[in-house]
Amino acid sequence: IQWYPGHMAKAQKQIKERLKLVDIILEIVDARVPESSINPMIQELGQNKPVLLILNKADMADAQKTQQWIETFKKRGITAIALDAQHKAKLPMIEKVAQEILADKLAKKRAKGIRNPVIRAMCVGVPNVGKSTILNRLMHKNIAVTGNRPGVTKNQQWLKASERFEVLDTPGVLWPKFDDPAVGNKLALTGAISDVVYHADDVVVFALDYFKQFYPNQLRKTYQATDADLEQSSPELIMILTKRLGFKEDYDRFCIKFINDARQGKLGRFTLDPVPAEAKGND
Ligand code: GDP
Repeated sequence: IQWYPGHMAKAQKQIKERLKLVDIILEIVDARVPESSINPMIQELGQNKPVLLILNKADMADAQKTQQWIETFKKRGITAIALDAQHKAKLPMIEKVAQEILADKLAKKRAKGIRNPVIRAMCVGVPNVGKSTILNRLMHKNIAVTGNRPGVTKNQQWLKASERFEVLDTPGVLWPKFDDPAVGNKLALTGAISDVVYHADDVVVFALDYFKQFYPNQLRKTYQATDADLEQSSPELIMILTKRLGFKEDYDRFCIKFINDARQGKLGRFTLDPVPAEAKGND
């Protein structure tokens, strides 16, 4: 997806319409970039509906930082959970936490005589954070065609995750943040921004700067980087590693491989958004 102002306005309008139908918004972010992949407009789009923030791909993120990010969000009044959507056993947690967030609303419904109130939800998030995977895994074979409720496009369905939890079948695709180049580099490295809108070498220089500081062992392990290599500037390190991998002077080839390795977890687990100091405790 390429985002232009016109696209964004259209997506915004459609998501806003569909969010009117739900009790809770499931905003999916990538646990490796929990702040950079969040959409600042979601409160406005959802007209202040409750949001459950799902830090997906937690299996690829720095586990300690994921916990610290969850604490940080909590302090900001946002309920967040870590998820690995490929790990099916963890998915019922989404419904459980949604029930907790909506406890008052559900209690009121029960008081009105609705014995088993249903929670309706919609997944939203920037590209490639795992929205479709979560939907697929949540539903397994319980696909429900519950008719056309008012306001829902005809071919839209509610998928039944359980007797009391339904999710709109089509996720809302949010646009990434563009203003900060560092955010752009992080989103490119994790795959939320498509290959046409960034320069691989910029992304890799950014990533090497970060990995040298926080995850040097992962560079040693994946690319046999030596201590002397790690003291070089990142552009120099690109040249060294390109040669080491036998790519001669094809630096682009190395950069593309590096980005793919990072996206596929071959560089080990990492988190690119630094945790704000107050959440770190006695770290
Ligand atoms: P969407 O664009 O948000 O719908 O993202 P997809 O559901 O298509 O997922 C993008 C890629 O990430 C796919 O290759 C998924 O298999 C992968 N993926 C999704 N969730 C997870 C996860 O929790 N862990 C890992 N390691 N990969 C995931």
